[in-house]
Amino acid sequence: MSGIHGKVIAITGASSGIGEATAVYLAEKGARLVLGARREGRLNAVVDSITAKGGTATGLVVDVTRREDLQRLTRTALSQYGRLDVLVSNAGTMAVSPFDELRQDDWDAMVATHITGLLNGIGAALPVFRRQGSGQFVNVASTAAYVVKSPQGVYAATKAAVKVLTEGLRQESGPDLRVTLVSPGFTNTEGVGKGAGPEVAAALTEQRDAIAMPPCAVASAIGYAIEQPEGVDVSEIVVRPTAQA
Ligand code: NDP
Repeated sequence: MSGIHGKVIAITGASSGIGEATAVYLAEKGARLVLGARREGRLNAVVDSITAKGGTATGLVVDVTRREDLQRLTRTALSQYGRLDVLVSNAGTMAVSPFDELRQDDWDAMVATHITGLLNGIGAALPVFRRQGSGQFVNVASTAAYVVKSPQGVYAATKAAVKVLTEGLRQESGPDLRVTLVSPGFTNTEGVGKGAGPEVAAALTEQRDAIAMPPCAVASAIGYAIEQPEGVDVSEIVVRPTAQA
């Protein structure tokens, strides 16, 4: 199966930002979607706006740090649509801070969301892909996986882990599966600086408002990786605003 039309695609973190834009983009191209996030109201609004335009989407309250939630996400794809073609692991938190602030709950959340959350998705989808003899992982990292900038040490470390895990998975995936890393730069979403201290949040949102690209730029990069023919693996995409150093 190549292209996007008819594919069954699960997306984590689909209640806002890049995940929402990706859901809308893929629905317009005829994908059948299973969308996960924690904020039920926001998620339902995304599902409703897609279905109102004739698209196909189901929403599920999912916390990626919980293994069972990812199992439920893949089970729902199978029970509703009979298969799962792509898992987009996008859920993330950008509550960055200087180490001296000792915001250890935020450190834990980034580790749990980006690393454990990604592994929970792999654990849930890999057996399905193996049984089907096809499937694609699309993992959302960040330009922070390539360059660390203060005060993003913990965030960058977890996104570097996403990059490393994705390459390890790609090497083991064999000829039937596809594994793609998508690393966005500054993107105009509500998540930039969310949960960070006031000074850091203000600096990040100022930078975002000055240079960020729209989330649909990342959505179309994800779509490009998905729409390639079987046997063609777009392994890595870095997409950033031209103004980003
Ligand atoms: P948003 O805050 O808009 O989106 C983050 C999404 O992740 C939300 O839908 C949120 O939904 C979901 N989420 C967070 N934690 C969990 C969890 N534990 N379980 C399930 N869902 C969760 O920000 P972005 O769209 O910008 O971020 C999306 C991804 O892109 C992240 O991985 C981020 O690190 C990455 N990224 C963003 C960049 C940017 O500049 N915006 C740059 C580089 C990478 P809910 O709260 O409802 O659960």
